[in-house]
Amino acid sequence: MRLLLIGAPGAGKGTQGERLAARLGVRHIATGDLLRAEVKGDTPLGQSVSGYLDRGQLVPDQLILDLVMPRVLAASQDGGYILDGFPRSVAQAVEARDLADHADAAAEHVVFLQAPRDALVERLLARAVAEGRSDDTHDVIVNRLGIFDEATSPLVDYFRGRRLLHVVDADQPADVVTDAILTALGAV
Ligand code: AMP
Repeated sequence: MRLLLIGAPGAGKGTQGERLAARLGVRHIATGDLLRAEVKGDTPLGQSVSGYLDRGQLVPDQLILDLVMPRVLAASQDGGYILDGFPRSVAQAVEARDLADHADAAAEHVVFLQAPRDALVERLLARAVAEGRSDDTHDVIVNRLGIFDEATSPLVDYFRGRRLLHVVDADQPADVVTDAILTALGAV
C-alpha cells in the first residue's frame, strides 16, 4: 500500500497516519515529525528549517525532497508507506512522481481529509495546549491555513485528475474516520 494523506493543518493526518500504518502494516512517514526531530536535535538541517516551521511557512522543496524521497523509496521496497504532510504543493507532487516512478514507488491512493475551517482551528488550538507546538499559536495557525488554501489545496484537483483521490469527511471521531478511509481504500 502506497498512500498519501492530504488535508489542512488540524485535519488529523498525523493521527490517521499512525492508525493506518498500524492497521496496514506499512511505514508512516510524516514530514512535519521528521523536520521537528531535526530541529530538536539541532542538526544543520534543523537549524536551517526552524524559522520556516516557527512561521508556519513551507520549507524549500529541495530540502523536503532530499529528506523524504530516500525514505519513500526504501519503504516502497518494504511493503509500502503512508505519507503524511507531503506533497504540500503541485510542484512537490510533480517532482516526487518523477523520482518515484522510476522505482515503482509512486502513490497508488490519495486520501483528502476534509473538515470545516472552524473545526480545524478548534483542534489546532486544543493541540497547542496539549502538545505545546511552537506553530500552533493563533497567528501562525492563520498563516498555515492560508498556505494550505494557496499552495496545497490545488492538489485535490491534481490528484482527482489523476484518478487517485478519495475524499473522506474528517469532521468525525477518529475511529469513524479510520474506518471510512479503510472502506474507501477497499481495505476492509
Ligand atoms: P505538519 O506537522 O505536517 O503540520 O508540518 C509542520 C511544518 O513543517 C509545516 O508548517 C512546514 O513548515 C513544514 N513542512 C512539513 N511538510 C512540508 C512539506 N512537504 N513542504 C514544505 N514544508 C513542510
